[in-house]
Amino acid sequence: MSFSSDTKAELIRLPFERDCCILTELSALTQTTGSLSFHGGGRISVSWQVENAALARRIFRMLKDGLGFAPSLHFVQVARLGGRRTCVLTVEEAEAPRLLTLLRMMEPDENGSPVLKRTLPRPQVTRACCRRAYLRGAFLGAGAISNPDKCYRLEIAARDEALCGLAEKQFARCGIAADHYIRRGIPVISLTDAQSIADALTVMGATQSLMKLENIRITRQMRGAANRAANCDEHNTERQLTAAQQQVEAIKLLAIHRGLFTLPPALREIAELRLEHPDASLEELGQFRDPPLSKSGVSGRMRRLMREAEEEFGTRDPG
Ligand SMILES: [Zn+2]
Repeated sequence: MSFSSDTKAELIRLPFERDCCILTELSALTQTTGSLSFHGGGRISVSWQVENAALARRIFRMLKDGLGFAPSLHFVQVARLGGRRTCVLTVEEAEAPRLLTLLRMMEPDENGSPVLKRTLPRPQVTRACCRRAYLRGAFLGAGAISNPDKCYRLEIAARDEALCGLAEKQFARCGIAADHYIRRGIPVISLTDAQSIADALTVMGATQSLMKLENIRITRQMRGAANRAANCDEHNTERQLTAAQQQVEAIKLLAIHRGLFTLPPALREIAELRLEHPDASLEELGQFRDPPLSKSGVSGRMRRLMREAEEEFGTRDPG
């Protein structure tokens, strides 16, 4: 299972809470996976087409247990999807007007009969609970998340501008900065930094996936810091400050991870000096010691210290 399918499986297992949220999540799923069929004489049916059988069951339960509809479920082999089996849920003509009214796609005319006003739901997302439900539904219907071991990326293919705008707005209201770009004519909302993705997982309610992400993230940070520190060029004055900052970063990680007391005394001493004087050059660092240590002496110890960090946190820089 990929990180993406694990995250979706976790979200699909979440219990339903309030009625308002069921409708909001269903609206997002309808925007991303739903379609209307017109049967003449103003008769309309609503269908959802999804490959994930567990997601189909969730939509089924929303419709049946949550909103009191009697959807039908059948399977089709879709040739253009490489012959994969797809689940199709349908709310038939008799029940569709009530559903379309709930989804704010139909509105009563002057005689009180429901008339189709728009072909996509217009969810009202005012409560915080519904904001979470909306983003969860949009992600389940059209989202993907990359394995955080490789890169940080969460995307939702929005199918139309309205959905794109609404989803971006919901992210913004949660304090998550989302970006969007157009891929083959379709707006795609994307989150590309670890913190935004962590926040999005929190908002959607994917607690287990969030913990997995945080574990991977901390390992990557430690590995990255140790490698940058180990590879830095101490003789390049232009990069001196950056090198020193990287040393500080690696030392802090060593301190957090195993404690500086576990280091040999000579290395512990240089680690503590570096933490006390984060901006000093290696030569200056040597002068802070009593008795003073030559630049090459400091440099040698610093290299050993960085090697400790490298061994602790791995050698590959994941970038
Ligand atoms: Zn709600």
